[in-house]
Amino acid sequence: MGIIKNTLYHISNKRLLPLFKNQFLFPYYHIVRDNKVAHIENLYPYKNTIQFKNDLEVLLKNYTPINPDDLIQHKSQKNTFLISFDDGLEEIYSVVYPILKEKGLSAIFFINPVYVDNNIGLYKHYISIIISHLKQRNFDKNLLDKISKIFYINYETTGDFISKFKNIPYSERNKINDIFHILNFDIEAYLKEQKPYVSKVQIQEMMNDGFFFGGHTMTHPPLNKLSVEEQKTEIIGSIEWLKLNFGISYSLFAFPFSDKNISRKLLNELFQYDQNILLFGNSGLKKDIDNRIIQRVSFENPTKQIQKHIVTENLYKCFNQITGKYQIKRK
Ligand SMILES: [Zn+2]
Repeated sequence: MGIIKNTLYHISNKRLLPLFKNQFLFPYYHIVRDNKVAHIENLYPYKNTIQFKNDLEVLLKNYTPINPDDLIQHKSQKNTFLISFDDGLEEIYSVVYPILKEKGLSAIFFINPVYVDNNIGLYKHYISIIISHLKQRNFDKNLLDKISKIFYINYETTGDFISKFKNIPYSERNKINDIFHILNFDIEAYLKEQKPYVSKVQIQEMMNDGFFFGGHTMTHPPLNKLSVEEQKTEIIGSIEWLKLNFGISYSLFAFPFSDKNISRKLLNELFQYDQNILLFGNSGLKKDIDNRIIQRVSFENPTKQIQKHIVTENLYKCFNQITGKYQIKRK
């Protein structure tokens, strides 16, 4: 949350929530889990099962759940909500799926085909695993120096090293395997034991139970580092992979990292690929240039109370309307 949103959060009051019911709400998360896990713990905080269940209760009390199928068929009404999860982490199967089922809710899960079945992992998750491993070795200066040399990082403190290492450019991602080698860390064993991502079998079981899946690119790259042609291949590849493996006919897709710099050219090509495609962003309560682009709000932060969070997002929406930033502009 930025400074403005944080200020709004502090002045917002959960009793204002009834004022903000006449809307679609698309909350999204990545993971729900009761303890720490190496591949996520250094990237972002997340909610535990009690907090997630509480979110669902608040949402159900104030909004009507909409089935993804209704959304696909444009049968949407106001005062509704639909939850989605990005990145295809295993917890969507072992934690989230049973909770949603118990509440009679459906959801959309956006996945990266390359990581399904745990043969390789996302480079950002590898970075988190390495930081956790370095922590266990008390951030041995020798190791930090070796890693810094490989990525041309200049650091002063351990904290400085961590933040710079977390932000190494996408183009350097292939060097991460060298780090595992230096650390004598068996990443393949980690993937096999920890199983960070869902499997094809799990996806099939959830689909059979009325849950929906969408693409999230093949490998989760920062799209702004790719050409439009490469972006298209990453995006359509992930949607086609789902169609091919599971026989679905709908096209759902969520942009990885951010939808901020997505061009009109790319959007037009995606609409050309499937005129009924639904695209999901993460820009909060904003209006996009086409009603096939749905903007979502992250409810992942465990320190924010959901009622206050919804009120805050709506106050921020008012702020954006006043300052002319509610309507998203795309070049
Ligand atoms: Zn993602």
